[in-house]
Amino acid sequence: MKRVSTICPYCGTGCNIYLTSKNGRVVGVYPSRHNEINSAKLCVKGWNIPEFITHPDRLKKPLIRKNGELTECEWEEALAFSAQKLLEIKTKNSPDAIGVIGSARCTNEELYLAQKFARAAIGTNNIDHCARICHAPTVTGLIASLGSGGMTNPIHDIKNAKTIILIGGNPFEAHPIIAGHIIDAIDNGTELIVADPRRTRLCDFAAMHLQLNPGSDIALINAMAKVIIDENLTDQEFIKNNTEKYEEFKESFKDLSLEEAQFITGIDKEKIRLAARRYATQKPSSIIYTLGITEHYTGTANVRALANLTLLTGNIGKPGSGINPLRGQNNVQGGCDMGVAPFMLPGYKFISPLCGGNSDKKTIKKYEEVCRVPFPPQQGFMTPQMIEGALRGDIKAMWIMGEDLLTTEANAHKSQKALENLHFLIVSDLFLTPTAQRADVVFPACTFAEKEGTFTNTERRVQRIHKVIEPLGESKSDLEIISLLSSKMNYPMEYESAEEVFEEMKSLTPQYAGINYGRIESEGGIQWPCPREDSKGTPILHSEGIARGKGEFYVPEFLEPREIPDEKFPFYLSTGRILFHYNCGSMSGRTTRLAREFSENFVMINPEDARRFGIEEHEEAVVSTRRGEITVRAKITDETAPGLLWMPINFYKSRTNVLTNDAMDEKSGVSEVKVCAAAIKRSEK
Ligand code: SF4
Repeated sequence: MKRVSTICPYCGTGCNIYLTSKNGRVVGVYPSRHNEINSAKLCVKGWNIPEFITHPDRLKKPLIRKNGELTECEWEEALAFSAQKLLEIKTKNSPDAIGVIGSARCTNEELYLAQKFARAAIGTNNIDHCARICHAPTVTGLIASLGSGGMTNPIHDIKNAKTIILIGGNPFEAHPIIAGHIIDAIDNGTELIVADPRRTRLCDFAAMHLQLNPGSDIALINAMAKVIIDENLTDQEFIKNNTEKYEEFKESFKDLSLEEAQFITGIDKEKIRLAARRYATQKPSSIIYTLGITEHYTGTANVRALANLTLLTGNIGKPGSGINPLRGQNNVQGGCDMGVAPFMLPGYKFISPLCGGNSDKKTIKKYEEVCRVPFPPQQGFMTPQMIEGALRGDIKAMWIMGEDLLTTEANAHKSQKALENLHFLIVSDLFLTPTAQRADVVFPACTFAEKEGTFTNTERRVQRIHKVIEPLGESKSDLEIISLLSSKMNYPMEYESAEEVFEEMKSLTPQYAGINYGRIESEGGIQWPCPREDSKGTPILHSEGIARGKGEFYVPEFLEPREIPDEKFPFYLSTGRILFHYNCGSMSGRTTRLAREFSENFVMINPEDARRFGIEEHEEAVVSTRRGEITVRAKITDETAPGLLWMPINFYKSRTNVLTNDAMDEKSGVSEVKVCAAAIKRSEK
């Protein structure tokens, strides 16, 4: 038996694990004891990692479409055909007729190469990844307000907070080990305030539950800011020394009424007042949020509204404080850091004035020197824009790496039409996902256990993953696949190792400049920014002043969700994740013990509504929106308030995103998957 230390490939918590292997198979998993994230603990997904790695469904040979069927072929044929098609499309149209989507399951090294492939081998900024459907507003919002888009404080620092506001997040299901840190903090006297339209599991441990109406976050947060200002609970010294635009901000709140906030949010105004007082006075106070804040067409404004609270009270840059987005996939933080986005280069170097950044000729010149080609001049398309572009016929080819777009993107039927409209589609993945089934070429990629590299977790900690077994069948790492295809396209990428890619990447990424593989191993991961080799990294952001110089107050305007219930669609539908599955379910859905707990999609409905619509527990019900309908079983529970339906997004065989709204936050490109209008009825079948 061989034992290798590595990192869990599911959520952004980045738990440290050991995998054991025998005869080329991963046979066991257990948690590492000596680390600050998950010391000796794992959640149920972590404990069940081994099965998907060598699951019989794994793709082991490349596939190419012949006579309408995906047929096994040799690597040489798949690579040569793909290179030829991409070069043809590039020459006949333009490099901007091609889009590339990287995967947050990939390593930093692979993500760095994905953006380099798009920009240097193809010549387009049409490069994106799944942050676009989760925390893109965190990047745009926090950079605009504070100058850095990362979680400000480490996971182990949660215990230092006296008050925690958990808003739009359900870590009990999506980040269970972090939920454990929150519960430990509560046991030590921390007060938890949960703001969520659902009565999630952590409400049982909370001092207050603010059960707001879906999409009314800004009304709630602004009302809290109003209380803090009116009752002189602000930190005037902090505001004076560290912020700008406070007077404008204060003035804009003059006429805001708590009665109106009560009407919009559905929360008693005295409860709002109490929550604001506790946050402002029981310091240090921390804000933790996830996709309930970001996945709205006002996602960036929602994030900035939360940043206002930290600036008003000086709850930033100190232990136990901060604004803490919990990132979803294992390496979505790395995807952002590596510049896998159409408007920024590695290290958050903005190539357009988005997010307050400026085109920087020196940065672009340095990038051109490293990549040895001219930089594509225009900002590229974000994923939803690529989908629109494919529908229009402007985007003719795409390479989707390790993403099941048809399961995870809002308004799935629209994405499906877009992919059908492409002239050429490449997908690399572990399994033949619904998206891969529509490809012209499928590259078999290998799992995290079959390669070397780094992941960056939600608290900006860069950690090493290690190869445990050889790649299954003929599968290859994404690093190898990207390098091979790029070389076939006359842009050679010849790297001896993942470490060599890391060294090149850090020359363009100031936050990673002082990090190397040796240091990561010996120091148990390093939290960026780590600009020099003698820097220890930065566990708490903004501790020596706000990264932006001065934190900027912003006046967020409350806007109703794009769709509100009406006669035809009388419910709000919200979506999210469940403990036993992850993202599109391609890995967790193929794990017997996880699939046994939840084997199929379902809809949560309040008992009162279920009675009204004649729906029984576990009975099939048809849920419909303006975009489509699906039939799922009903779960009757008072976790959802009357008037609210809730569904998980984790089932690729029954895709909730057929229903969701792709109304987009213009600043970040995120879709409003958290709220739309829906109807439900008993299934006639
Ligand atoms: Fe893996 Fe996240 Fe569970 Fe940790 S909390 S074991 S990283 S899924």
